[in-house]
Amino acid sequence: MIGASIRARKASMWPYHPSLLATPVPRYTSFPTAAELTPHVTEQDFADALASASGEISLYLHIPFCERICWYCGCNTGAANRQQRLVSYLDALHREIALVAALLPADARIGRIAFGGGSPNAIAPSDFTRLFDALAEQLPLDDPIVSIELDPRSLTEEWRPVLKAVGATHASLGVQTFAPHLQAAIGRIQPVEVIERSVALLRMAGITSLNFDLMYGLPGQTEEDLAETLDLASEMRANRIALFGYAHIPHLIPRQRQIDATALPDQWARFRMAAIGRHQLIGAGYQPVGFDHFALPGDPLAQAALSGRLRRNFQGFTEDQAPVLIGLGASAISSFPDLLVQNEKNSGRYRMMLSQNHLAPALGKRRTKDDQRRGAIIENLLCQGRTRVDAPLLQSAFERLAPYVQMGLCAVQEGQIVLSDAALPYARSIAAAFDPYRQDSARRFSSAV
Ligand code: SF4
Repeated sequence: MIGASIRARKASMWPYHPSLLATPVPRYTSFPTAAELTPHVTEQDFADALASASGEISLYLHIPFCERICWYCGCNTGAANRQQRLVSYLDALHREIALVAALLPADARIGRIAFGGGSPNAIAPSDFTRLFDALAEQLPLDDPIVSIELDPRSLTEEWRPVLKAVGATHASLGVQTFAPHLQAAIGRIQPVEVIERSVALLRMAGITSLNFDLMYGLPGQTEEDLAETLDLASEMRANRIALFGYAHIPHLIPRQRQIDATALPDQWARFRMAAIGRHQLIGAGYQPVGFDHFALPGDPLAQAALSGRLRRNFQGFTEDQAPVLIGLGASAISSFPDLLVQNEKNSGRYRMMLSQNHLAPALGKRRTKDDQRRGAIIENLLCQGRTRVDAPLLQSAFERLAPYVQMGLCAVQEGQIVLSDAALPYARSIAAAFDPYRQDSARRFSSAV
């Protein structure tokens, strides 16, 4: 039995080239990335972009509160322990909905609504219902697909009718690991029964696409720990699994200082865990989607990957095809074909700007034609594993691509760059060859695996 497991692990291994993984790279959930946003954006820029956002639009609403803060978390969120702060944040969100609704053109159609955070279930179910009612009354909803991120630790029975009433079909649970000693090491205790109860509740509420966020690279985590967590996740038939490498960057995320850095697995151990995890999930019937997502056959994400319609946005790999994403709430990012805009991150300042009936853009970036061209190349490489590139752009990237070509991780064939099957852990690094903003990224991004 042990011999079979070792053979399976060997079969799952990608070729390991540590020097090609040495430079931290962005996750490329947008291009240019959030690191390129600057204060050179005005409220008028944002208003103009909203006024020309016709056709299909997706919405994202950010709820920056959680019942308990996990030590590893890099999200813009805070403790939901001050009622007045929650009330005034929700007031601001209602105002922002009204301002955006007044600017959208008549032919705009909202096809998706995603609630994220933080934990949207940190607010009261009645407040959530009021928020959804405001969206339905003021915005041109077009039978939207509704998705929500949830903290299983605070998912109470009251949420079941609420999720059913708004027609939510997609949900994502922060699970991370089922191993109790790892949960203690990252400050997130949630017994397996809590997840089982949440899964049952969500299925009864009508959730047909349920995602588990899981992590490898945790302090003290072994390959056996990861294998047991993946077994449990697949036994619970999560429709999607996102298997992320934990990024330890305490100089940027101070709450991570509570994590014992001396117990973190090294790059080789992380690499093995990513490979073994992928192998195990494929063996359990999941289809790989991009470099870190997995979906059961039949799930819309698996279908998008199979049919070449996979996209990448701020939530990771997605089947969402809308060209415009409007982000509402503190720190939320809106994405238009030629503009990125991020709302004020500080929720106090965000509330103040909305209380004066102003939109709250703080950072932004015009997407030049060159940015759009490079963004499409990066997205194609990450989503489809191949991309067409014109000769001058290929020439400009060739020096950075050369080591990957030499190692057989990608090839240039008739004006296309094609990634090999072994290139997945290197995909972001290969994509970075087309990113002119990445000269010195050592401190700002996470490891490539
Ligand atoms: S529940 Fe999620 S968003 Fe909240 S602190 Fe934990 S990881 Fe972060």
